[in-house]
Amino acid sequence: MRGWGINIAGLCELCQAADESLEHLFFDCYFSKEVWGGVLQHMEVNRSVMQWDLEVQWCSVKSRSTKAADTRRSIAFAETVYALWLQRNAKIFKNKTDSVDCIIRRILFIVACRYE
Ligand SMILES: [Zn+2]
Repeated sequence: MRGWGINIAGLCELCQAADESLEHLFFDCYFSKEVWGGVLQHMEVNRSVMQWDLEVQWCSVKSRSTKAADTRRSIAFAETVYALWLQRNAKIFKNKTDSVDCIIRRILFIVACRYE
């Protein structure tokens, strides 16, 4: 996250229940877990979200694949991370929180648009 020029300190904006870190924000947070759960289910990935490094590894394998389902999944991965990041910023700067369902629908819509 420092590489993005962003300073993270204090409590997680999404759950207010744990210290914010990259690992927590994107994967450990219950809010993020719910979003991942919904996205993975729609992508027909039959597992729950893993740790950051394992997810990145999984994603880079999928992104090299020529199978359509794998391409969709790697797009979904990137979009989910991005959506969670936007959600965190919306909370900080606009004090706005979207529902988990709303975020999942948005991610799936973007994936569908980019994949078609
Ligand atoms: Zn959290």
